[in-house]
Amino acid sequence: MASGQKYTVDPARLEGVASEPLFAAVAAEAAKQNIPAFAIGGYVRDRLIGRPCKDIDFVVEGDGIAFAQAVAERLGSGPVHVFKNFGTAMFMHGDEQVEFVGARKESYSRNSRKPEVEPGTIKDDQERRDFTINALAISMNQGSLGALVDPFGGILDLDRGLLRTPLDPDITFSDDPLRMLRAVRFATQLGFTIDPATFEAIQRNAKRLEIISAERIHGEFNKIILTPKPSSGFILLRDSGLMAEFLPEFLELAGAEEMFGIGHKDNFYHTLQVLDNVCEKSDDLWLRWAAVLHDIAKPATKRFVPGTGWTFYGHEDKGARMVPKIFRRLKLPLDDQMKLVQKLVALHLRPIALTKEEVTDSAIRRLLFDAGDDIDALMILCRADITSKNEKKKDRYLRNYEVVMQKLKDVEEKDRVRNFQPPITGEDIMRAFNIPPCKLIGDIKTVIKDAILDGVIHNERSEAWQLMLATGRKLGVDPVVLEDKGQ
Ligand code: ATP
Ligand code: MG
Repeated sequence: MASGQKYTVDPARLEGVASEPLFAAVAAEAAKQNIPAFAIGGYVRDRLIGRPCKDIDFVVEGDGIAFAQAVAERLGSGPVHVFKNFGTAMFMHGDEQVEFVGARKESYSRNSRKPEVEPGTIKDDQERRDFTINALAISMNQGSLGALVDPFGGILDLDRGLLRTPLDPDITFSDDPLRMLRAVRFATQLGFTIDPATFEAIQRNAKRLEIISAERIHGEFNKIILTPKPSSGFILLRDSGLMAEFLPEFLELAGAEEMFGIGHKDNFYHTLQVLDNVCEKSDDLWLRWAAVLHDIAKPATKRFVPGTGWTFYGHEDKGARMVPKIFRRLKLPLDDQMKLVQKLVALHLRPIALTKEEVTDSAIRRLLFDAGDDIDALMILCRADITSKNEKKKDRYLRNYEVVMQKLKDVEEKDRVRNFQPPITGEDIMRAFNIPPCKLIGDIKTVIKDAILDGVIHNERSEAWQLMLATGRKLGVDPVVLEDKGQ
């Protein structure tokens, strides 16, 4: 078994498949219609390695849609969803999603990943699959019921932990360049190795990724980010040349320059370490994305300052400004998800900056106010960002981090500023001074907010009311309501 591989192959896991209700129904229908049928692809692979899988695909040498309808009827399952354009039909069987398609033969043109499709045999269908381990099939046919159909040695590759294309890899990847990203994704998910000939073909064809839509690209990239240890996938993406095609900014992080004997860390590897660290603590895709992008503006902000050394001044703000550009290009969601990533990138230095000086309550309150509900995510990112190789420095940062954590807890308990709701509203101010909506209202609210965050007054209505009156007077308006009569 290759190192890093997480699964062992056991052909005994196929035993008894033919007597399971779904497969028995498929076999009975195949016998009745006298057409060959097979379970195929990811389900077969996952069953052999004991990995849970709720998607079951079948291929029949005939009309997949009619076949699906007949099987669903036998099982009393349905409704059957038909996708005429793709010649597929799908229904739910319990919590399993079952899909049928007629066996296909495909030929591709150079400029598109949409092939010309014509009916074919199971062998044709297996040939157009991406990897030998994904081309495995189980016969649903009398005489060979339950037997593995494996024309390309997929089970050996599964056992060796090897990703290899069934055909000449240059053809497989040129036909559908998305498969190159899938290779890296499966290698990272399963802990497999990409066969050298297959990997070299990826390097030769990486540029072909340009014909793939951003949605498909980010779909695979997100799956890599969602693995328990994405760094190995990122290294494959770099070495294959694929990353240059969709996230060149990340490659810029690489390298450790030296001036007058003073170096800085290689931010490519640092970022990967931070990402792996975050992944140990959280499955949240967008927090993981924040780890990917937290130092993205370091190359653009790098300076050597004599007497100080290397600085990356403002990289957190510039990085936050780069996030929308990257998200837009990759067609990632631009709403709350992107805003979270932006916010975490912008704030990622704040908790650690606090540890450099005396940690005041007021600084903690401001951090809680700015991070709001995302304070926990921010603290996970911040903790993950402590990667110094200098053990002493690392220990000091970690101790300071604990101090900040404790202070956050204390201050939040005391002052409840995490989801700060101003105790005085704009309406209150308009009523108290009998003024229409205007800039003054915002100014008064800001004074009250700052006073609370700085600890000048408590986060409490009566103190805020008094401050409102005083501030209004100072700014030249006289209150008409002196007593707070409630909201
Ligand atoms: P997972 O469901 O974990 O993403 P999977 O292998 O099941 O992995 P799917 O995208 O569900 O992947 O596809 C099911 C099967 O269809 C694959 O196992 C493979 O045989 C085939 N397949 C999917 N996409 C491609 C592709 N781009 N090129 C060739 N074959 C593909
Ligand atoms: Mg699948």
